[in-house]
This record gives sequence, C-alpha cells and structure tokens, in this order.
Amino acid sequence: MKKIANGQHIIQLFERFSPKHYALEGDKIGLQIGTLNKPVRKIMVALDVLEEVVDEAINQKVDLIIAHHPPIFHPLKHIRTDDPAGRIIEKCIKHEIAVYAAHTNLDVAPGGVSDLLADRLQLVNQKILVPTYQDPLKKLAVFVPKDYEGDVREALGKAGAGFIGNYSYCTFSSAGIGTFLPLENANPFIGDTGKLEMVEEVKIETIFPQSIQKKVIQAMLKAHPYEEVAYDIYSLENEGKQLGLGKIGELEKEMTLKEFAEHVKKALEVEKVRVVGDLQATIKKVAVLGGDGNKYIYQAKMRGADVYVTGDVYYHTAHDAMMLGLHVVDPGHNIEKVMKEGVAEKLTKLCAEENLEVEIIPSRVHTDPFKFL
Ligand SMILES: [Zn+2]
Repeated sequence: MKKIANGQHIIQLFERFSPKHYALEGDKIGLQIGTLNKPVRKIMVALDVLEEVVDEAINQKVDLIIAHHPPIFHPLKHIRTDDPAGRIIEKCIKHEIAVYAAHTNLDVAPGGVSDLLADRLQLVNQKILVPTYQDPLKKLAVFVPKDYEGDVREALGKAGAGFIGNYSYCTFSSAGIGTFLPLENANPFIGDTGKLEMVEEVKIETIFPQSIQKKVIQAMLKAHPYEEVAYDIYSLENEGKQLGLGKIGELEKEMTLKEFAEHVKKALEVEKVRVVGDLQATIKKVAVLGGDGNKYIYQAKMRGADVYVTGDVYYHTAHDAMMLGLHVVDPGHNIEKVMKEGVAEKLTKLCAEENLEVEIIPSRVHTDPFKFL
C-alpha cells in the first residue's frame, strides 16, 4: 500500500541529495511560502516562480513547488496584491501551495544543475570548476554481538557508509570480548540485571561523509539488537568529496568553435547563442556554469578551458574573455531549465523507494524572458 506523503518527508528526501549546507553563504533557500506540515500529493519542479508558473500550479492542483530561483530573494517591503510579486504570494497562500527553493545547494549537488549541464554537453573527465564545499569524512566504530555482524554491516552499506573511490560497503571487522553489567532499570538483550556479562563481539569500522551521519547512525541503531549501543565517531584528516559550481571537462572529439556553438544549441535546446571568439578556433576543453558565471571567467581560463559556456555574459566580461584568449558561448540564463526534468526524475525515484503516493511534474511554462528575432 502506498502512503500519502507529508511535505516534510518529501523535503527530507530532496535534501538527501541537495542538503541546505551545500548552499553558498547568504543564499535564500528552503521553505519560502506556506507550510511543509501537510499532505503533499502533487509536486511541480520549476526554474522560476513567475505568476504564470503559479497559475499552472493552481490548474494542476499542485501542493508544493520546488524552485531553483528563490521567489523571495530581497527582503520584502510590502505584499501588494496589485503587483505581480505580491500576487504570487497571495495566490500560493490562497491555494495552499507551498514554495521551497533550492538554489546554489542544487547547483553544486552531485547530479545537480552543474552535473546535468555537463552531461548534456557530453563532457568526459568532468571535474569541478569552482570548488565551494568539501564534505568532511568521519569514521564509525561500532561494537556488535557476533550474530548481528552481517545485519549491521549490511545496514551501514545500504545507508551509504563505506564508500572509498569506486568501492562501496568498505568495512573492517575485528573480534573481541565485550563486557557489561546491566543495572537495575536495564532491559538487556543478553544477560541479567546485576550480573557481569562477557560477550563475543565484533568491532565494525567504516568511513562516511559527514553529510549523511544522521542517516548512517539511524540505520546502524535500527539494525543493532542492543538497548544501549556502544559506538565511536571520529573526525578524519582524509580529504572528503569536493563540491562546487560548474564543471570542466573534455569533448570526446575536438571541433571548431562554430561547430561547438551548434552542439550547445542542440544539447541545451536553445534557439540562439551569443559567441565570443574566432569561430574557426579548435575546441577540446570546455567549462560550463549554469546561471550567471561572469565572475568565474578567470577560473575557466586558469583551468585550461578553450571555451566557457555560461549565461548572462556582460559586455565587459566578453572583452576580458577576448583579451584572455578564452572563447565564450552564452546560451542564456534559462539553460538551467535542465534542472526541472532532472530533479523531477530523481525525486520520483526517491519517493517510489519510500512507497509514497505522490506525483512529480516539471513545469511546462517557458520562463526565458528573451526572444530572438
Ligand atoms: Zn540561475
């Protein structure tokens, strides 16, 4: 039987791959309008929350909008229902539509906007362009009675602990003797109150990124038979997984800048792109950053990119790029629309795993304000 989902549960699942602490400082993310403490049957994923998008959500009987661009970014001076910004809030509240924003945390998340864009451009040997966050690594050592060793190890692996490079379920076990003396109010799984117990136990050690600590510990406690579980968590000096904005990678086959511009148009489904540089130049190494990437042209050049794909390029940034000898292809800010299908797909999978009765759709409204004539 499928369960009706609660908004909070949905967001917990969403934040498994795009947690809030991935966001850049000062970003306006999280719940912006309404409440998550309610049943959610239908979710819409949107790039921008325009009035048209809210109307679409009302028509579709959506309970929750997950948006990439936060509709409330600057502090509000008023909520006037005779202007569109105020009406967006009014309509959402009237129709009980909650709005949750995931911005830079979704940009940098594995499988997020940067990854989706780099995959669409078919880049190989992808690396992060602008590192912003490193997930610290931790070690867990837990003491388990011998018969439950397999169960606990399985639970840890399933929760995502024990990843080292391309290996999962990495653990180390050593056998020993555990002792304990159950006190008066204890309800021991093994042994009796007031009697010193000696039990054959196994110490299981494994590594995990700090971001999933809660999940790992919960899974371990659930699989462990003891009332009071003995376990240690250590901080490690090992370097954790790096996250960041944009990607740099290579094309399988080099092409001219002109051919590459055509490739971008097709891959990102845009009609036109703006191009800076010599159209006959050879392109092999590509940097891509969704949204406004003006700030990062130097990083793109330093990392050896032949071309930088980003939106909202200013006139002066284009001059700087020309002087640096960095080619630029600007397909517009709207290329971040790739997040709609990507997020809907990912969240649908997570909800199915939890047996939740919920439908997740990408918004069909085209929010690019620009037309090319
Ligand atoms: Zn953006």
